[in-house]
Amino acid sequence: MVPDAQPQAVQHVPVRTAQPYGVMIGAGLLHRLPEHVTSEQVAIVCDENVAPLHAGAVRRNFREHGRLAELLVVEPGERSKSLSCLETLLEQLAAAAFSRDCTVIAIGGGVVTDLGGFLAASWLRGVNFVSVPTSLLGMVDAGVGGKTGLNLRSGKNLVGAFWQPQLVVADVETLRSLPEEQFRHGAVEFFKHALIGRPEQLQLLADPAFRPDAPAERLSSWLADNIAVKAGIVAADEREAGVRMHLNLGHTLGHALEGASGNELAHGEAVAYGILFAALLGKNRGLADLTPVALQLLRRVQPQPLPPFILSDLLPFIARDKKNRAGSQRFVLLEDAGRPFVADNVQQTELEAAWEELRSLVDGLVWEAAN
Ligand code: NAD
Repeated sequence: MVPDAQPQAVQHVPVRTAQPYGVMIGAGLLHRLPEHVTSEQVAIVCDENVAPLHAGAVRRNFREHGRLAELLVVEPGERSKSLSCLETLLEQLAAAAFSRDCTVIAIGGGVVTDLGGFLAASWLRGVNFVSVPTSLLGMVDAGVGGKTGLNLRSGKNLVGAFWQPQLVVADVETLRSLPEEQFRHGAVEFFKHALIGRPEQLQLLADPAFRPDAPAERLSSWLADNIAVKAGIVAADEREAGVRMHLNLGHTLGHALEGASGNELAHGEAVAYGILFAALLGKNRGLADLTPVALQLLRRVQPQPLPPFILSDLLPFIARDKKNRAGSQRFVLLEDAGRPFVADNVQQTELEAAWEELRSLVDGLVWEAAN
């Protein structure tokens, strides 16, 4: 990667967890990783898409600085968040004799940061981890906050550890190569943060400039503002005993839609429908009516049409949501934009009413061409 001709401002977002760290956001930061990662041994985890685009250059750069740097490349996609893939990577670390003071750097989307984080948590009972998210979802969500995870056949993210990175580096230049669809899907988590804690960013829903090819300075400042929402929540509740659950807005129905559709609906698409569902549940309880915002988000995301589910197709998945506690059904709702809360004991009649309304709002929706 060629360094920027013009030095650009770098944004810093502190994450004040028990072991505090920072998120650096800016252009051309990948090139500067050896300045920030001082280990002599560096294991760079990435997938086959990101290896030639970004990670290969990072390895060369570390080697030019006289460090031992290995590229550990996995297949793109959820299947790489598996115990067998983890085992392969651990064997690669063993074969290259990586020691306790090595650093694992994950460069990629949320799949790679989840996998790389757990690799760092488990190799020799835990080594340094640096998270370098390259997807929008990774930058605002998966790459920040220390949740790592693998999937089992029985479900997503059932294995993992809380393992905070030493540093998160979000190089906005990497977004230029991100497929447009991935940017749209990642935007769901961006606007979820806006709904939870940065309502002024909701105006970007209607701003055609909010794109991966926006000027780096603007992208960096939007991202920094948005990441600060997650950083604040994680610092207040590192292990998800309280407010961190707010980040689950839209995810209870979202996970159910992903599960019931056999992952035909992508995560971002499913959560976009989930946010509309939460907005309807809230409106029906007499809270602020955020359905227009949620519909605007759907128009931004342009998800695939909703499969012809009835609510009973989804209820088993809703009941199984791992955020539920002892039988009660929990949904994150919003008193208003910026005021989330956890609603316990959401009744089946409420779910039925919101589901019927959701279907009538979205069936037959046709997206205009993406701007
Ligand atoms: P992903 O990692 O599969 O990336 C999406 C696709 O984009 C992949 O094909 C990848 O190769 C490609 N890609 C990534 N960056 C690129 C770039 N700069 N240029 C070109 N291609 C690029 O998916 P994702 O949406 O980034 O992450 C989803 C994962 O994140 C899920 O497994 C989810 O469980 C996890 N997640 C974790 C947390 C957490 O807190 N740990 C939070 C949210 C999501």
